[in-house]
Amino acid sequence: MATAVVHYTAAAVTDRGRKRPSNEDAFGFSVEAGVYVVCDGMGGAAAGEIASTLAVDEVFRLLSQRGENNETPLLTAAEEAICAANEAIYSRAQRNRRLSGMGTTLVAIAAEERRVWVLNIGDSRCYRLRDGRLEQLTQDHSLVEEQVRMGRMTHGEALRSPLRNVITRALGTQCQVTPDVFEFEAEPGDLFLLCSDGLTRELPDTVIQSQLSQELPLSVLSSRLVEAAKKAGGHDNITCLLVRADV
Ligand code: CA
Repeated sequence: MATAVVHYTAAAVTDRGRKRPSNEDAFGFSVEAGVYVVCDGMGGAAAGEIASTLAVDEVFRLLSQRGENNETPLLTAAEEAICAANEAIYSRAQRNRRLSGMGTTLVAIAAEERRVWVLNIGDSRCYRLRDGRLEQLTQDHSLVEEQVRMGRMTHGEALRSPLRNVITRALGTQCQVTPDVFEFEAEPGDLFLLCSDGLTRELPDTVIQSQLSQELPLSVLSSRLVEAAKKAGGHDNITCLLVRADV
């Protein structure tokens, strides 16, 4: 059976928001490499910014060494790059006391033909809009979302909890980390959103769904999402990376 070739297009916007003095989010993507990454850094002083930027840079540096013939399978290469990014952040924090404890979330897509892998550490999220319906593909590694999954807390309580910032898995805070990996088959028209919690804390999924359902260029859609999150409060840095699968 002939399978349609899928092409990907992408666009991203990051914004400091309205309350934070700096932007500790970072993103990077390469349609050629089939890899798309959003990171949300944490740590005192400028440490969060260093951690998220280092993570994105390290992932793409490693992927660029994948070799001319792409002999390493894409998922393996992505997992190895994430491990290396973890080591780079961790060892830098060990060497510099001011950076001690810094870390970052990471949510990534690795796409090869119709095969899509979503890799996740922390509480940045990946969503997919398919046939007008928005679905969250990742599970947050956060204390409150784990409580929700165990039935001990409602979504509303999680959003209001003073512990909502506590994440249970991060890149760079320990010598080893394993991302969650989800595998999907892309359908033409699928629209993937990678975003930091600065978006999802401000906008309910219903609003994200209706925004993404508009037939507009990805750059316009991502800008509009960020603007909507700023209008809703903009308490945190906001990053949106959109990836569309087209025939
Ligand atoms: Ca954040």
